[in-house]
Amino acid sequence: MSDALIRILPDHLANQIAAGEVVQRPDSVVKELVENAIDAGATSITVVVREAGKQLIHVIDDGKGMVREDLELSIVRHATSKIASDQDLHAIRTLGFRGEALASIAAVADLEVRSRRIGQDVGYQLISRPGTPAEIRPGGGDVGTQVLVRNLFYNVPARRKFLKSDLTEFRHISETMQRMALARPDLRFTFYDADTLVFDVRPAELRRRMQDLLKVRSQDLVSVEGGDRDVAVEGFVGLPSVARQSRSGQYFFLNGRPISSRSLGHAVISAYEHLLDAGQHPLFVLHITVDPQRVDVNVHPQKHEVKFEDERSIYLLVQHAVTSALQQHNVIPSFLADVPLAERPLQSLPRHGNEPPTVVNRLTGEIQTGHLASGVPPLRSRGSDVRAVTPAEQRGIDALFGREETDAGEALHVGRQYILTTSAEGLVVIDQHAAHERILFEQAMRRSNEGDRGGQALLFAVDVRLSPSHVAILREYLDELTALGFRVEITSKGPIEIHAVPIDVQPGNEQQTLDAILQSLEEAGRLPREQRRERVAAAFAARQAIRRGQPLTASEMRALIQDLFSCKVPQLTPHGLPTYVVIPIDELTQRFR
Ligand code: ADP
Ligand code: MG
Repeated sequence: MSDALIRILPDHLANQIAAGEVVQRPDSVVKELVENAIDAGATSITVVVREAGKQLIHVIDDGKGMVREDLELSIVRHATSKIASDQDLHAIRTLGFRGEALASIAAVADLEVRSRRIGQDVGYQLISRPGTPAEIRPGGGDVGTQVLVRNLFYNVPARRKFLKSDLTEFRHISETMQRMALARPDLRFTFYDADTLVFDVRPAELRRRMQDLLKVRSQDLVSVEGGDRDVAVEGFVGLPSVARQSRSGQYFFLNGRPISSRSLGHAVISAYEHLLDAGQHPLFVLHITVDPQRVDVNVHPQKHEVKFEDERSIYLLVQHAVTSALQQHNVIPSFLADVPLAERPLQSLPRHGNEPPTVVNRLTGEIQTGHLASGVPPLRSRGSDVRAVTPAEQRGIDALFGREETDAGEALHVGRQYILTTSAEGLVVIDQHAAHERILFEQAMRRSNEGDRGGQALLFAVDVRLSPSHVAILREYLDELTALGFRVEITSKGPIEIHAVPIDVQPGNEQQTLDAILQSLEEAGRLPREQRRERVAAAFAARQAIRRGQPLTASEMRALIQDLFSCKVPQLTPHGLPTYVVIPIDELTQRFR
């Protein structure tokens, strides 16, 4: 007998070890089996689990099925029908390709696969127990495949012990089912927990499927369409009002495959800048389609993380697609609304009396004012490139600022809270406090971005006494508060001295204003540096905005309307609440029926 110690592991042991990578919990089995069903071209997939999948996972599909030889090979490791060559590996079009899932499952559970190939009269049944050779016998059944996984991990007690409570494991499965169903709205998914139906969703548009599964209303979803020659970005994002406290409603799919990508997540969130509070997470389902040659999916056995050859350009495409979707969703009437943003970035703002017309560049957020009658100053964008208004733009602007529209400058005050005005679309109802909050927020952000530290210097410094926790916050946010216009001296002993305040602060209100801001910052908790300036501006705006109930003169209302629609994001407060609603003429008509 030789002294050599190394030997090749028997297959069933090798598979059991490999299974640790592919099958970590019941949910991984569900994912692999559903992916196989999708790869087999199924149009309808049913999943039944018992005891969170520990007792049974049963997946039924109406895909193309397997012949006897396929069935035999299906549970052999590295046996796959999905790739055959090196080239295939670099252009994966299926969800599976490693040929590991069934082999791994067979190593850690009792496995039964029933399958009948399309065009065949008989089907076959494979029965396998860990460590013993599989049996195959003829069996009946419909075209398609059924996989039954029983007693998962019963031969690997360490793993079984490692599982979380049934509740937690079931939540994972349920999340996976939801993700798959959002990945492929064109397929029917039926999902049972033992005998209880969890969901049954029929083939539909993505919008409909999101309504069914994520419990959002259609009107809270904004359609996203973007991309370039090689990449398409499509799907829906939720309005800020349906943002969640967690990332639970965020889904990315790449060529139909669920992926996670921190960088793309950030691309979406950055489009919501100013629209969400810290701790709020936008809802989205975005499908990215690229040429498989341009992505590498062979990264992780679970295949969640995907590497892009050109990460940066995909980031920008996603960010741009979401940003323009949110901008275009501006409910304010616009003759530009149905024209792609990049083609027609200029949007005219409502105008009153003899005021010069104002146009906002929706790409840059820049506001441009000036008479645009023929031959008058061209629109200038920041930076060097100067560009004249095209005749088509001029026509659009004239149409909006034509006689008809200038008359629509009347504003009514309702309940000392709402300003009523009209637009081509219908009745516009503006919440005075919310609108003013938006205006002050953008002004404050602009001041702080431009590093305008002006503020108004006080003739006599105001001494204030703050609680120790407010003093700590003051120190933490000193830079941001200074950028806003405050100049504050924190003496080691004694009171804190305010030497300057932002221009809108009324004399005598210095201490209350500072207090209110510090209070709001305290409630916000710790924030990453990049969110602090916004948070300070939002707190300031909320404090300074005119209250509901405050009387307004006609010219104050006009100024408020003008300022609101000069904002980059006129429709929402910094906290994501609406600043105004439009009651469309159609709806009025309905009400009179
Ligand atoms: P992979 O999906 O990576 O190819 P699997 O172990 O998941 O590896 O499956 C092995 C093979 O078994 C697949 O390539 C496919 O040919 C076949 N197969 C598995 N599940 C099904 C199914 N539901 N319908 C048809 N064929 C299937
Ligand atoms: Mg597979």
